[in-house]
Amino acid sequence: MAVDTSLPTPSANRLCLEFANLPLASGDPVERPIFWDEFVDFLAAKQIISAEKMPYIRALSETDPKAAQSLLNHAERLGRALRTSFRAILKEQDILREWVEPINQILRVTEGHDELQPDGSLWRMGFVAREEGLEWLLAAIARSGAELIAGGRADSLKKCANLDCRILFYDDSRTHRRRWCSMALCGNRSKVAAFARRNQDEGEKANAHHA
Ligand SMILES: [Zn+2]
Repeated sequence: MAVDTSLPTPSANRLCLEFANLPLASGDPVERPIFWDEFVDFLAAKQIISAEKMPYIRALSETDPKAAQSLLNHAERLGRALRTSFRAILKEQDILREWVEPINQILRVTEGHDELQPDGSLWRMGFVAREEGLEWLLAAIARSGAELIAGGRADSLKKCANLDCRILFYDDSRTHRRRWCSMALCGNRSKVAAFARRNQDEGEKANAHHA
C-alpha cells in the first residue's frame, strides 16, 4: 500500500519513539496500521538492516508472506506496547506488567551483544543481534524502549502540545522547552490559530468601542 512519505518525519530523538510514531501523522489524532514497505524503509533508515539485505527483507511479503505478516504483527504489538507505556509515563500512571510483555518478548527471543559502531565522527553503542528468526529486526527498538521505560527520565519524554496530535518525542534541547512534534506542522498551525484568535478579540474590542 502506498504511504505518503513526502511529509517530513518529525525527529523524536529516540529509536523507540520514532518507531512508536510510525503509524501516526503530525497533527493527526488517528492511529493506523503499519505498512510493510514503510516498516522496511524504517529499518533501513535506522540502519537496522544493511543496504545489501534490504531487497531480501522487502521481498519477504512476496516470497514468504507468512513470515512477513508474523513480523509485522510483532511490530504492531511492540508499537502498541511502547505507546501505551509511554502515555502512562506522561500521565504519571503505573505501567502494567502486561503492557511491557511484548517488549520483553522481543528482548527474550533476541540474543546478541553490544559493540561500538561509528556514528559520523563519533562512536555509539550499537546492539548486534544473532540473526535467528526475523524478530531480531525488532531487537534494537525493544531495547531502546526498555531503556526509556527503565530510565525513568519522564521529564524529557513529551507529547506534542497540539491536543489533536499523538506524536511523542524526547526533548534533547538545551532549553528543554520543545513543545511541538514539528514546528513546520503543529507549531505553525498553533501560531496561526493564536493569531486568528487575537485578531478576532481585537475585532470584537473595536466593535464594542464603536457601539
Ligand atoms: Zn504534533
